[in-house]
Amino acid sequence: MSVKLKSLSVLALALAGGLASTGAHAATALPAGVAVGTVPGGEKSISSSVFDITINFVGGLTASQQSTFTAAEYFWETMITGYQIAFTVGGSLYEGPTINAQGTAIDGVGGTLGSAGPTTAYSVSDGTNSFAYVDTGIMNFDTADLANMEADGTFFDVIVHEMGHVLGFGTLWNTDSIGGIFTGTQNVYTAGSGEYTGAYGLTAYNAEFGLSETFIPVELGGGPGTADGHWDEADFAGGPLDLMTGFIGAPTPAADAPFAAMTLSATTIASFADIGYTTAVTHAIAPVPLPAGLGLGLLALGTLAGVTRRRKAQV
Ligand SMILES: [Zn+2]
Repeated sequence: MSVKLKSLSVLALALAGGLASTGAHAATALPAGVAVGTVPGGEKSISSSVFDITINFVGGLTASQQSTFTAAEYFWETMITGYQIAFTVGGSLYEGPTINAQGTAIDGVGGTLGSAGPTTAYSVSDGTNSFAYVDTGIMNFDTADLANMEADGTFFDVIVHEMGHVLGFGTLWNTDSIGGIFTGTQNVYTAGSGEYTGAYGLTAYNAEFGLSETFIPVELGGGPGTADGHWDEADFAGGPLDLMTGFIGAPTPAADAPFAAMTLSATTIASFADIGYTTAVTHAIAPVPLPAGLGLGLLALGTLAGVTRRRKAQV
């Protein structure tokens, strides 16, 4: 059975409240071609950047649920390694977004599951490139659905997926609709087109799956919240189980640990470089250490490459 992730990815787009800031470090241009797992030329400033998510537990989450949010935080802090345009806020190097996480009783199991997305963002430009970087986000869930997901084993998968939306996947692909100070920042997708064209993601996609496509297929079905914000369930070459497709099924042996019902593609991680991050796939300069306490395996780059090979064999 497949459950639509639609209502979990409802956005709280109050992005115009973000503060403008100017890049304090040298720009890194998008390379014309970047192979998965290699170092793009010229991207040398990443050691000056960091990526550290802060989660504020606002209420309504058990200790067990909070620990899963923290594991999802570690996952993303391993896959996203920094900002292509490092910048300062209040005189300090900006290290990453703050997410308010909350559980509230809404309507029991099913129905409205909650919402997740960026709420404020910075517009950052170095004169060559401009990006909208999430500053604050929310992850609000119906406690009945949280308990249900814990029971069926998909909780970690869903929290990682939703945190991906907070960080910009499908939510900050095209900032034209936001306008204002975000004019001129990233635009890697046109709503309704079904065609993701970000260079990092597309290059990784073709490399990972042996293709020569001009776009990555994006979901157009499922209605608002699912359409235009996920890889296409049917046509994405990484298959319907990928972390950032719009539907989730039951736990399956085909999943990639630490996920129970999902698989992880290099393409998905690489796409975060299109919205201004440095990633473990696109900007690796050294093996990525496992975060202390994660205890879930998988996250080193070599393992990620292994995932790629396994997933090709699944096609
Ligand atoms: Zn989603």
